[in-house]
Amino acid sequence: MMLKTRQVGDPVLRQRAKIVNDTELKSDKTQFLIDSMVETLRDHPGVGIAAPQLGENLQIIVIEDLEKYQKKLPKALLEEQDRVPVDLTILINPRLAICEKPQVDYFEGCLSVPGFRALVHRYKSVLVTGLNRRGSPIEIQATGWFARILQHEIDHLSGELYIDKMNTRSFISEKEFFNNWEDKLFSDLNVFRDTHK
Ligand code: ZN
Repeated sequence: MMLKTRQVGDPVLRQRAKIVNDTELKSDKTQFLIDSMVETLRDHPGVGIAAPQLGENLQIIVIEDLEKYQKKLPKALLEEQDRVPVDLTILINPRLAICEKPQVDYFEGCLSVPGFRALVHRYKSVLVTGLNRRGSPIEIQATGWFARILQHEIDHLSGELYIDKMNTRSFISEKEFFNNWEDKLFSDLNVFRDTHK
């Protein structure tokens, strides 16, 4: 079932999400929530969603970055961002185990902050541990865009939004992003970076 996405200003987006225990995870209610998260993510479409964005204060994230979302972008950009298709990934109680420097900044958006984008620093490589939807432990070594999505979604579980970490000079409308900046390379974005510090 497609669910309504909570928008910035809703207190549920600012809470620390609860750990999901084994009984809760295996309940019909939670399994239905996970299916609804997948459906809502695909419907928008987006590349990641966290349970608090659907009003559920639980540590569950869903990620999927399909090839069809990427094919309109220049190959050079996809290579620079290290962005490759990511199969449907469902993570319960995820933890960022290792974040490896360097960090890099690219534009991000969020289904809970519709209509805007901004540059956000993220680690290029992370190791994430957690459970799959059946409760088995999993470990994900991610780089590039997948690592970025993981960091964005895991932040949601501690009540953090990308706007808390963004380069405020780079805050732009989504319309402006799609018209002028979506296909630009890292060095083209220098105009937004702090040059007066
Ligand atoms: Zn988000």
